[in-house]
Amino acid sequence: MPVFKRHGAFPCIVKKDIVIIGGGASGAMAAWLAAERGLAVSLIEAKERGAYHPCSGVYPLHSFKGFPPLPGSAFERDMVTMRPMSPASAFVLDGREFGTSLGKIILRSTFDKCMLDAAEKKGADILDGTRAKGIEVTGDGVAVTCVAAGRPESTIRGDVLFLATGTSGFHLHDQLGIEKPPVVQSIICEYECSERHVEEVLSAGAYHYYVNKRVTSIGPFWITCRRDSFNAGIIDHHVSWERYKETVEKDPRVKDLFAGAREKVWPGQKSPRVMTLIPRAPVKRPHANRVLLLGDAAGLAHPFYYEGVWQGRLSAKHAVETMVRLRDENKAPIAENLAGYKALLARTLVNKFNRSGRKNSWLFWEATSDESLWTFFINALAENKELRALIVKCFELDYAETTDDVDFKAGEMIFQTIPTLKKILFAPHFLRAGTIR
Ligand SMILES: Cc1cc2nc3c(=O)[nH]c(=O)nc-3n(C[C@H](O)[C@H](O)[C@H](O)COP(=O)(O)OP(=O)(O)OC[C@H]3O[C@@H](n4cnc5c(N)ncnc54)[C@H](O)[C@@H]3O)c2cc1C
Repeated sequence: MPVFKRHGAFPCIVKKDIVIIGGGASGAMAAWLAAERGLAVSLIEAKERGAYHPCSGVYPLHSFKGFPPLPGSAFERDMVTMRPMSPASAFVLDGREFGTSLGKIILRSTFDKCMLDAAEKKGADILDGTRAKGIEVTGDGVAVTCVAAGRPESTIRGDVLFLATGTSGFHLHDQLGIEKPPVVQSIICEYECSERHVEEVLSAGAYHYYVNKRVTSIGPFWITCRRDSFNAGIIDHHVSWERYKETVEKDPRVKDLFAGAREKVWPGQKSPRVMTLIPRAPVKRPHANRVLLLGDAAGLAHPFYYEGVWQGRLSAKHAVETMVRLRDENKAPIAENLAGYKALLARTLVNKFNRSGRKNSWLFWEATSDESLWTFFINALAENKELRALIVKCFELDYAETTDDVDFKAGEMIFQTIPTLKKILFAPHFLRAGTIR
């Protein structure tokens, strides 16, 4: 008996090759690629298509590589500049100095919708406005029980489940007895303003990365510009509105950026302020019998970069590659045969980009009690064109393929700018960062 079979067109009564729960960055991409590769796929997404999704929207150039193109309408604006800030310093890193941009800025409701539409066009069944309630994994398949407003409960059956529920579906991990990634908290707040405000006040840094240890201890305060709008937020072990407000109101350089802006509610959003979670580390085992964990459900975003859209999409690509290989080799999707997925993630992501996040987190957040190292980094950027060129290159570097140790090179350049006496103090931190795996 072949393991993979194509079935009819009725999602409630037939068995698919893949059932995906979650239509965010990773689930939508997986549905698109799986359908493109001829796999029968159903995707279940709790929200209506185009509903708000909490995400700052930074999408660096490297994130485009190796994925099918998206229409221009999927993007809000070019991300030309980035402005690292600390209480003592600020600098505008401008890609145009090196004839490039740093990436794009996205609004996730539009971006995810584009991917879901593309998946549907390729033949995936997209069931949005539908919540997965229960999962059963047996020796010959998976069964997902779903509920949707105004419809009777239904069951979607498949050979394999892709769990792409981000950080909002951990009860499904519990049901399956699967490890959940460790998380930190975040607050994101949405604002509207005039495009002139974006251009004149905020675009000096299309995205601002503010490190202040009195405000947060593991991730930045950020501001990211969209079109006629922007968002701001903080990441920490425990976040609070009070501390968020304190940041906005206390540092005059930050306060000025908010002048004239009003809080905004996007379609599908109940309040302009959302408190949510970001993974802190990947799970040890992103696979089990008939199950693969994708994106944030596998802990693939990281608080230093707080970027997870690329990681989610890359994990989708690897998950689909794994399934295609099993189909071609006619192998059953048992845990042992799915382990190749973990190896792919390690090779292109966990030991590359995420390792870079871990090193930077150590250096700029964990090693010292204040933000002096971040201030040295900002000052080094101002002084050293070679460092600026390297950091700009990081935005477009193909992390999945590169063998360059850009973190080491950048570390060396930053270290050179530290005053001699302080070098003694900071040298052990740089050495330790170099050993982080
Ligand atoms: C405040 C904040 C700012 C961020 N900023 C950036 C950034 O600037 N750039 C970047 O690249 N990344 C950013 N990230 C990270 C990024 O948003 C995530 O890493 C990314 O969304 C992960 O994609 P995913 O598909 O794994 O999960 P998600 O995109 O979260 O998608 C999961 C989906 O599963 C659905 N779901 C959950 N449970 C169920 C269920 N039971 N039934 C049906 N559907 C279900 C949810 O509705 C959701 O749509 C940010 C995250 C946060 C929280």
